[in-house]
Amino acid sequence: MKTILVLHTGGTIAMREDEQGKIEPNATNPLYSTIESLSTIANVVVDDFLNLPSPHMTPALMFSLSQRIKEQVSKENFNGVVITHGTDTLEETAYLLDLLLDLHVPVVVTGAMRSSNELGADGPHNLIASLKTAASDEATGKGVLIVLNDEIHTAKNVTKTHTSNIATFQSPQYGPIGTVTKRGVIFHHTPVRHESYAITKLETKVALLKAYAGMDSTIIDAIAGTEIDGLVIEAFGQGNLPPAVVPGLQRLLNRNIPIVLVSRSVSGIVQDTYAYEGGGRKLKEMGVIFTNGLNGQKARLKLMVALEKTKNHAELQTIFLM
Ligand code: ASP
Repeated sequence: MKTILVLHTGGTIAMREDEQGKIEPNATNPLYSTIESLSTIANVVVDDFLNLPSPHMTPALMFSLSQRIKEQVSKENFNGVVITHGTDTLEETAYLLDLLLDLHVPVVVTGAMRSSNELGADGPHNLIASLKTAASDEATGKGVLIVLNDEIHTAKNVTKTHTSNIATFQSPQYGPIGTVTKRGVIFHHTPVRHESYAITKLETKVALLKAYAGMDSTIIDAIAGTEIDGLVIEAFGQGNLPPAVVPGLQRLLNRNIPIVLVSRSVSGIVQDTYAYEGGGRKLKEMGVIFTNGLNGQKARLKLMVALEKTKNHAELQTIFLM
């Protein structure tokens, strides 16, 4: 039987609701009773790494989590890892782990939309489905996976799409890569590539802004006044911005601060198509870096990681097209 490391970090999956309907972290993780019933799937070793609501997660904590996973897997020879996490920033932790880990065992991140004592609580079921996935030979080599609601998604493509529905995690445009059933785990897609970056620290500061009609350079200039290493901007559609934003961006570029462009549309990639002022073609000519379908929050983490390796514009552009 395989041995799986279950690392808890907190989130609703580890919380309880009181009589007034307030949901808060619980001193003892309520998943312990579920874990006792998992012995038919795998031997489970539990690491109570954190017990935080996921809005309290930071890139620094995510980085420590990645280090902890690497240490534990190399020391104890685990066959797989499951991480329980709050759903609000789950996709960010999962994606950062995807960028930082290059393990020969499956890594699965899960959470829950309903706390442990709510009717229809989804945490125990998601944990069981994640354990089955982490124990599956086929889950190896697919990057960090997200398992909720019996669906298996990649960290790169998944996003939280609904505030409360248990089917909140979706991969717009690409869909899940597998399904968990009562009988087992079925994969129907394999990601074509996996990138990983060996970095020893994660201290770069990157801001994320969303474009809106009538936006000008005020907020960009305000950000430029802070200690910042890079900016990600969620542009319109195929990658266009209001013209009044351009002077602020140019001032940042003049200071060698990289600007990465994603789209605020949920599907598709940004391209240098439109040649009007603020259009993608002009932005590309200015030196803005284009991406290939990442959302803003993931592009921000990727820029933080990439900036620990290089500040070279051409190298950053290559990294963002992977
Ligand atoms: N606010 C909670 C958290 O992310 C939501 C959840 O876990 O589903 O910690």
